[in-house]
Amino acid sequence: MKLHEYQSKRIFAKYGIPIPNGDVATTPAEARTIAQRLGKRVVIKSQVLVGGRGKAGGIKVADTPDDAESVADKILGMDIKGLIVNKVLVDEAADIKSEIYLGAVLDRAARKIAIMASSEGGVEIEEVAAQTPEKIITVHAHPFLGLLDYQARNLAYGIGLPKEHINTFIKIAQGLYRAFVDTDASLAEINPLVVNGAGQLEAVDGKIVLDDSALFRHADLADMRDPQEEDDAEREAREAGLSFINLDGEIGCMVNGAGLAMTTMDIVTLFGGSAANFLDIGGGAQADKVAQALRIILADDRVKAVLVNIFGGITRCDEVARGLLEAFATLNTDVPFVVRLVGTNEEEGRQILAESEFNVTPATSLADAAEKAVAAAKNKNLS
Ligand code: GDP
Ligand code: MN
Repeated sequence: MKLHEYQSKRIFAKYGIPIPNGDVATTPAEARTIAQRLGKRVVIKSQVLVGGRGKAGGIKVADTPDDAESVADKILGMDIKGLIVNKVLVDEAADIKSEIYLGAVLDRAARKIAIMASSEGGVEIEEVAAQTPEKIITVHAHPFLGLLDYQARNLAYGIGLPKEHINTFIKIAQGLYRAFVDTDASLAEINPLVVNGAGQLEAVDGKIVLDDSALFRHADLADMRDPQEEDDAEREAREAGLSFINLDGEIGCMVNGAGLAMTTMDIVTLFGGSAANFLDIGGGAQADKVAQALRIILADDRVKAVLVNIFGGITRCDEVARGLLEAFATLNTDVPFVVRLVGTNEEEGRQILAESEFNVTPATSLADAAEKAVAAAKNKNLS
């Protein structure tokens, strides 16, 4: 789950990281009031959950409260990479002398948290990594001791930070690291961390991505979720306890187990099709969950065929079959179904489907299922 810039920066501030004064507005009039209160030149920043807002015209400076109001009026309602701006952050504008990148990310290969810094802040770090990788300095925090002073100092030296900023930089890097750990983040990033005209370090932008699997122990953070972050299908799936990701293909996949779901997507590709989604109904799914999964898949009108691939272990094939019938009965769909049921109670499951009034194509192997699903989708496209 992604947090907005203003949410991320407020968290950073709790860890001693200097951020500009400012507040959030949802109307131009509010933006004006905030600008008036700040009494300085402000920057109006669209709060949408994508990067590159600056380039997209979603960040503008305003000299007066009047300006702030008219700039906010332009930015609110703007479409940035498909997301509509509902909120703007009105911050004291920073007088930027230089821009630094500072980020913490989980390095799975190292099994540690990596803290990265670069003198090339303000641009996307992926770009720096591709063009001038030597300009990214990385250290790994110790799992028990955290980010030690000397490590943060090495980052500062590595990016050529002037001496007078080093002690503050160490505190900021350690604050970022602690914020990352305490919130169970998978990414915490300040880009840019600037040196301003007053010779101070300041976090001008902030980004935190939280680990969804840890949200259960952060009710306060979970409440910050912006509904814009997810599409309807993804929200419904999350609430139903299904692992679901929308993709752009035309074969809806309903599978139990993440590994099997990935394999299913690969095999569909191998047979010349493309998956419309990743969906793992999990182990031991009951009929109602199966029905719900199917409704989510079929809500996508790009879906031309559905491949159900169940390897019954804890999950019982007869339960899945009943769930499918339950869903068919309410959905009234003409999308063709290919179903492969193997494992626990597979005979019962197949029989339930064969005896039903619904038109379901049974498949024996995974390859057979993929082939039939791809063919069914092609046919549907022609009809
Ligand atoms: P992003 O484009 O979504 O990453 O948004 P940022 O907050 O990082 O802003 C993008 C760029 O706009 C920054 O790298 C700065 O160059 C510029 N910018 C942002 N805030 C200010 C500000 O307060 N003053 C000035 N002068 N420039 C700013
Ligand atoms: Mn940025």
